[in-house]
Amino acid sequence: MLAIDTVLVKVASRCNINCRYCYVYSMGDTRWATMPKHISDTTTTALAKVLGDLSRAQQRRFAVVFHGGEPLLLGPKKLAILLAALRRALPSDYPFSLQTNGILITEEILDLCSEYRTSLGVSIDGPPDVNDRYRIDHAGKGTHEKILKGIEKLQNHRDSDFLYTGLLAVIDPESDPYKVYNFFKTLNAPSLELLYRDGNHSQFPYGKASFQSTEYGQWLTVLLDIYLADPKPLRIRLLDDMIKLVLGGYGTKEGMGTSNYGIIVIDTDGSVTKNDTLKSAFNGADRFTQQWSILTHALPEVANSSEFSRYYTLQHPTASACLSCPELSICGGGMPIHRWREDSGYHNPSVYCADQLFLIENIRDRIAALLVSHGA
Ligand code: SF4
Repeated sequence: MLAIDTVLVKVASRCNINCRYCYVYSMGDTRWATMPKHISDTTTTALAKVLGDLSRAQQRRFAVVFHGGEPLLLGPKKLAILLAALRRALPSDYPFSLQTNGILITEEILDLCSEYRTSLGVSIDGPPDVNDRYRIDHAGKGTHEKILKGIEKLQNHRDSDFLYTGLLAVIDPESDPYKVYNFFKTLNAPSLELLYRDGNHSQFPYGKASFQSTEYGQWLTVLLDIYLADPKPLRIRLLDDMIKLVLGGYGTKEGMGTSNYGIIVIDTDGSVTKNDTLKSAFNGADRFTQQWSILTHALPEVANSSEFSRYYTLQHPTASACLSCPELSICGGGMPIHRWREDSGYHNPSVYCADQLFLIENIRDRIAALLVSHGA
């Protein structure tokens, strides 16, 4: 059986804000509109059972990530039922985390997350002018101020050392990396996760002029220099992973390096789907042909299937440019979604290929310069 290392549970199918770039609502897939707004108690009970069974079947720890939409739309009562059920079903060392836009964070929610050992990551893209270009509410207003209030509650909670795992930001290549970095440092986050914008060869990511252009690579290289020059840097996972991979180590992030990640998604109706970022390719790209549901199927049955095996293999690129690329072990061919093209499917290098090559080359340069300056 192929190992599952992350179960992403969509506990709410709607969102209280309306980010312009969101792959769930703004890139062509409309399935969210047919989903139950929240995971029901029946589906929660089924979820606890299938996850307990999976844990015993694969004898290997997996992470549970609560996602949406906005997962805190579930509300504290239902969240308490869900967390209690899953904690009862799984060994205590299984990591639980919740990815939120932060606006609905309350003391009650934080106390619950503390009780059931569930950490929180908050999505925010940078200072107000950067964040509020895209992270807007349903009335078109910026969300920065409200997100900051949520982060403040998280920072001030008595259990914040455990609860506050970090921030997640989508890169805006038109922003000033100095301003963005300095802003994030003021939030005292344990780490920052940076994401490339969704996009593919048929629908170019925002800010990229062509396949050969390097806007994201240049932005990340400026950030790399700020990062390396900071004696007390904010941990940036994307750069840490890339540096580790250049040095011959392993990454920890899907879409980089050649490690395998087994990710499944459970939707609010209990259906089992693929990694939901695939939604941004075309309507239904994240769905299996086989209609699995945790209400009627066991997860090992999914993990043992040939269709799941094909989805798992999709992590690795098939384009000849990638297979012969000297940087394949570092870049990994990028996320499958970034390889998509309407006429050739996923059989392409990442749309961020030139950016990745630019960044990798600069990381090599900086490492070589550091070795020289240390007389190595
Ligand atoms: S996407 Fe580009 S850099 Fe990455 S492995 Fe493929 S060819 Fe190499």
